[in-house]
Amino acid sequence: MKVLKFGGTSVGSVESLTQVKKIVETIPGNAVIVVSALGGLTDKLIATAKLAAAGNAVWKPEFESMKQRHLHIINTMVPLTLRDNVISEVCTLFSQLQRIYEGLYLIKALPEKILDETVSFGERCSSWIVAAIIKNGIRHDSLKFIKTEKWYGKNVVEGKITSHLIAQEFNNLQENEKAIVPGFISSDYKTGEITNLGRGGSDFTGALIAAALGAETLEIWTDVDGFMTSDPRIVKNARITPHLTFSESMELCSFGAKVIYPPTIFPVFHKNIPIKILNTFNPEAPGTLITDVSFPDDPPIKGVTALNDLSLIKIRFLDPLLKESILIRTFKILSENAYKIIPVSNSDSDDELHFVVNASDSALSLKMLNTEFAPEIGQGLTENPVAESNVSALALVGNEMKERYNLLSRVLYSLQRKGITVKAVGSPTSNTTLLFILDERQVKDALNLTHSLLY
Ligand code: ADP
Ligand code: ASP
Ligand code: MG
Repeated sequence: MKVLKFGGTSVGSVESLTQVKKIVETIPGNAVIVVSALGGLTDKLIATAKLAAAGNAVWKPEFESMKQRHLHIINTMVPLTLRDNVISEVCTLFSQLQRIYEGLYLIKALPEKILDETVSFGERCSSWIVAAIIKNGIRHDSLKFIKTEKWYGKNVVEGKITSHLIAQEFNNLQENEKAIVPGFISSDYKTGEITNLGRGGSDFTGALIAAALGAETLEIWTDVDGFMTSDPRIVKNARITPHLTFSESMELCSFGAKVIYPPTIFPVFHKNIPIKILNTFNPEAPGTLITDVSFPDDPPIKGVTALNDLSLIKIRFLDPLLKESILIRTFKILSENAYKIIPVSNSDSDDELHFVVNASDSALSLKMLNTEFAPEIGQGLTENPVAESNVSALALVGNEMKERYNLLSRVLYSLQRKGITVKAVGSPTSNTTLLFILDERQVKDALNLTHSLLY
């Protein structure tokens, strides 16, 4: 059986949903179809919640336009025999959403839990619509089988329970049934509260289902012809990459290739289920195939991406003997608190250690490091760690990257010649990525320049 996931770009309008219907109805037998919210709706749900919580009455027309957008699609696409039922389901959901907005408007605050519940309405509604327009479409409620638990304040998937519940849910599909599943949403396995898998998380829903069912493929249907050598919105002459390995695609999407949500790769990689990236608006295009090993004609460099919203943390030490201890302790303290940390280096400063963290983790990271190194700072052996914000990591992904000294120096030279300062370089964990840390404002130029150097 196949699992297909259609993103917001594919379920945003009557035209795109017509394409989805065509694609799904040609599949013989059973399939699981994971759907996102209507394109742009999740952003709208969040923005409207913020308006309501700020006491701004504009939330009301915004809410009404979201509701009308759904009703327009239902009235245009859903067969008459099913229409009343879908309208009733969607209107019930919108009434619940309205009550939430009214509550936020009253309390003038936006608690995290309520925001999680608010964003769930996008996929809960779109799945009713898709189930009604696709022949043999039956909706399955992912709140019942995608389960999360709390981990350092974040909601993460409870793998065992989820996989067991998925197997149970899809065990007995009807003949030719197309099981329609809302992506992104989940619920806490202990409290039952509505949670989600993070922005872009519908891809991950697809991967969890594909892995639990041992699917033959996971197809990610989107609005581009496949994984490309760079983000086509930034690099106009980006090209399609026909084949990638799981680890290459993992590296590309972890460093900013938005086409797949990074956690998606792991469950299918684990079960060796191929992923295909396909274009809803050009279904004949071959797309990108992602499998476990390289193909003989795969090119050595797979792409250049950029990850924004990072901070560069610098720790200056006066005693060179301290270097190792600072390195180890920094890793220990930040990783113990579930912060992602990437070491990078700068040849100009032998007496400084550099790390990259997510901008949102920067202030707390600094606080922890200041506490950790207080004895050394007190004795004047180490300076207070500092953070530089608004930095990005430009990532070059390919094979044997650590051995490509020529490439490293060519990229450095070309960037510097165009006035782009590389603050530090690095190669995280694997041998597949070279990182260049830059000012966020220069990242578009750097992507275009590096891409033209490579392709
Ligand atoms: P969906 O709504 O289908 O989930 P997304 O917007 O999440 O779609 O992902 C598809 C988008 O990812 C494309 O429109 C493209 O602009 C962007 N993108 C970024 N980097 C890449 C890349 N390397 N290859 C292909 N697309 C990319
Ligand atoms: N609708 C969610 C988002 O916009 C999840 C997804 O589309 O994958 O982030
Ligand atoms: Mg996406």
